[in-house]
Amino acid sequence: MKIFTTKKELQQFREELSLDKSIGFVPTMGALHEGHLSLLGKCNSENDISIVSIFINPTQFNDVSDFKNYPRDFEQDTLLLTKKNCDILFLPDHNEIYPDKNIDWTDVDLGFIEQTMEGRYRSGHFRGVKTVVFRLFDIVMPHKAYFGEKDYQQMLLVKEMMKKLNMDIQIIPCETKRDADGLAMSSRNRKLSARGRSVAAKIPQILKAGLNFLRTESPGVVSSWVRHQFTEIPELQLQYFEIADQETLKPAAIAEPGKTRLFAAVFVDNVRLIDNMLFEGQKPANH
Ligand code: AMP
Repeated sequence: MKIFTTKKELQQFREELSLDKSIGFVPTMGALHEGHLSLLGKCNSENDISIVSIFINPTQFNDVSDFKNYPRDFEQDTLLLTKKNCDILFLPDHNEIYPDKNIDWTDVDLGFIEQTMEGRYRSGHFRGVKTVVFRLFDIVMPHKAYFGEKDYQQMLLVKEMMKKLNMDIQIIPCETKRDADGLAMSSRNRKLSARGRSVAAKIPQILKAGLNFLRTESPGVVSSWVRHQFTEIPELQLQYFEIADQETLKPAAIAEPGKTRLFAAVFVDNVRLIDNMLFEGQKPANH
């Protein structure tokens, strides 16, 4: 695996690469786990060259201490990526991504999909995401880019941004990887206490039960029931729960199999976790 830290190195590599080679890209913030590696696995299987970036993007954190405390594990990340056959690790520093003191924001307006849920509760978050993704895409110039459904709203937003900006980069959604007890893998899980980690498994359990309930009850009834389940567990503080259409993110009046998704953000031990699940209209599998 080659490690590049500058735009120049990456561009030189791009120039020397024969034009018929396909490039797949997996942007991350490091502290890698099986979820990230599954994106790389898919990227490897669909492209000649796989590029992974690690950049903890300060502009997408609405909370400075969250940024400072974000887990960092460069050595382990490098080992994992090498083992998983990553071709290039792009490891830019702050100036490489934000060369100007005044940040040149990518301010494309994506309407409701960036205003609801994460957009509503994390002020400025999506402006930071749009800007860093645009900047990274401009440097890496991939044919395909891989995003996890774990951050479903982010994946949708990037997809819409490509359409609006007429950028010819295919956004490939990848399914959420979960631990054995169902908790969605996340770099933030490392921040949980043993007790917090064990209680966090209730999040996917409640969502799954919600999906099951949605087969017979309206979204309104299921929402109230799910919210109530969270109030029963003092270690979990629900920030939002939504039952929404997965294309528009507008609240769903009725549940439609393959179209309606459940979304939640929950604090555990002051760590903010998000999860979402698709309503498939049948009894959900174990996880
Ligand atoms: P992050 O490092 O958290 O910014 O995540 C980098 C990419 O990995 C994003 O596209 C995430 O959606 C994706 N990702 C994170 N966790 C998971 C997971 N448990 N399963 C699948 N993809 C994930």
